[in-house]
Amino acid sequence: MANQTPNQIEQLHKALKLTQRLRSNVTQVFQKLSDGFEDVEKKDKYLLNDLHKTLSSVNTDLSDLEAGSSTLGPLTAASNSTNSTLICVDPIIDKTSTYTQLIHTYKWTDKMKEQASYASNLLKENQFKRTPIQSGTFTKRLRRSQPACCYPQSNVDVLLNSLIHQYRDTMHISVVRPLGSSAVVMIVLGKTLKALLVLRGMVIEWVKVKGYTEDFHGEDGKVDIWSSSRYQVFQKITQHVTAATLHYYAPEMPDIAIKSLIIWLQSYSTLFSTPCQKCGQFLQNGLPPTWRDLRTKKAYHERCKLMEK
Ligand SMILES: [Zn+2]
Repeated sequence: MANQTPNQIEQLHKALKLTQRLRSNVTQVFQKLSDGFEDVEKKDKYLLNDLHKTLSSVNTDLSDLEAGSSTLGPLTAASNSTNSTLICVDPIIDKTSTYTQLIHTYKWTDKMKEQASYASNLLKENQFKRTPIQSGTFTKRLRRSQPACCYPQSNVDVLLNSLIHQYRDTMHISVVRPLGSSAVVMIVLGKTLKALLVLRGMVIEWVKVKGYTEDFHGEDGKVDIWSSSRYQVFQKITQHVTAATLHYYAPEMPDIAIKSLIIWLQSYSTLFSTPCQKCGQFLQNGLPPTWRDLRTKKAYHERCKLMEK
């Protein structure tokens, strides 16, 4: 519209006025036809003349509009308007896909709302918890079990006494409690080594291994759980036993974990008399085979075990 010349705009205004006048006259014709038939007998001549006059003016207006519109070119012919300006010119919704797209979107939104409500109900029934929900007897057993660190002292004593009795031929096990409820288990394995385990409940929390000639008591006679062996071989074995406690750790069966470690520890009784299963040598870098396989209990040098893997 902005690119139309003043003459064209004037023609357009004229055409719009003619259209308005035509519509007004046509409305009058139909109005008179609908209102006037009741009085046709009395005033038929007058009404017919009036109707004829109105129809004539309609005819004239139509002729004028046709004549005026022929001088008007297409609305956008002289302009460089984009197609977007045609939207207001042609608002027929059947020719655009907007309505169909709206219906499609509405259906999807409705469906999504329905699915979301189903999902919400399902999630309410199955709330996420850090502890997975089990079923059947396993759930009952889990609820009854208690943390491995919180077993009463009497239960720990029963376990340790059974170990003392069971392995009395191969190792000497003694228990002291210098720091309250935590048991300090001291193990003497033949004439090879001494091991110290600190238990919190049924959990092994600290391990030290020393030589047979070394002691776990300080100069004041108290139990010393901190000092390390002065021999490199036992320092290395301390590291391996600490790793083994993590391997055997079983929170659901803490007594089995302690027993397994004790049985595995017995394999060190041949520390200085068994060659490495990999290289067949007794010494490597001045050390005997300090590692014992966690499953087979076979002896390996630390480096030979790494190569084995
Ligand atoms: Zn070796």
